Amino acid sequence: MAQIVLKNIDKTFDERQKVIDNLNLTIHDGEFLVLVGPSGCGKSTTLRLIAGLESATAGDIFIGENRVNHIPPKDRDISMVFQNYALYPHMTVHDNIAFGLKLRKYPKEEIEQRVQEAADILEIHSLLKRKPKQLSGGQRQRVALGRAIVRKPKVFLFDEPLSNLDAKLRVQMRAEIKKLHRQLKITMVYVTHDQVEAMTMGDRIAIMKDGIIHQLDTPMEIYQKPADLFVAGFIGSPS
Ligand code: ADP
Ligand code: MG
Repeated sequence: MAQIVLKNIDKTFDERQKVIDNLNLTIHDGEFLVLVGPSGCGKSTTLRLIAGLESATAGDIFIGENRVNHIPPKDRDISMVFQNYALYPHMTVHDNIAFGLKLRKYPKEEIEQRVQEAADILEIHSLLKRKPKQLSGGQRQRVALGRAIVRKPKVFLFDEPLSNLDAKLRVQMRAEIKKLHRQLKITMVYVTHDQVEAMTMGDRIAIMKDGIIHQLDTPMEIYQKPADLFVAGFIGSPS
């Protein structure tokens, strides 16, 4: 079980205005939740709070049964994929994928098995011996996904992972990430500022502005019944 619950979360940096303001959000086990909103609204901060890369000023965060406020990122069973999926340039694809497991001192056979498994899922067997500079943008992004799934996390967090790709590849990778979700059946939280991406990918979508979630619903519900003018304008629905 990896339901994620954010309860009454506030986040301020340097005593300034609240970047996250009394946020309440339950992400169901196994769901693909998209968090969408304009730049600067607090999406990355929310994701970083779930990952443990930031600590909340107030409130509680639960992953599964556990309150994780004081659990360090490495013990949260989470993998995160960013826009700049920095691969190690001097290492092969295989070693890039294996790196996190080596660091955690997994036995050699298990590392091999897991790398092969990740390569199967992402269909990147033929790339394992290459270096990152010998890969296209889309291939690199797939390797970054491989590096994340090889750890078998309970939760997968994405922070605008496709922003650096061209439009055609972006559409293709959206479908790949959704396929990955169907295969792995784990909880995924996907941050984007792109309405179309949100509407096509989310099981549910949380629409955020200025640190507040204005609506949390299925794409259809949001499209047909936007909660307020901001949501209607942002999604571009007819009402
Ligand atoms: P988004 O990902 O939606 O673009 P962020 O979560 O990155 O938004 O940022 C939300 C707000 O918090 C912005 O105003 C940003 O400037 C501010 N912010 C984010 N990180 C920090 C930080 N480490 N120190 C100070 N302010 C920050
Ligand atoms: Mg961001």
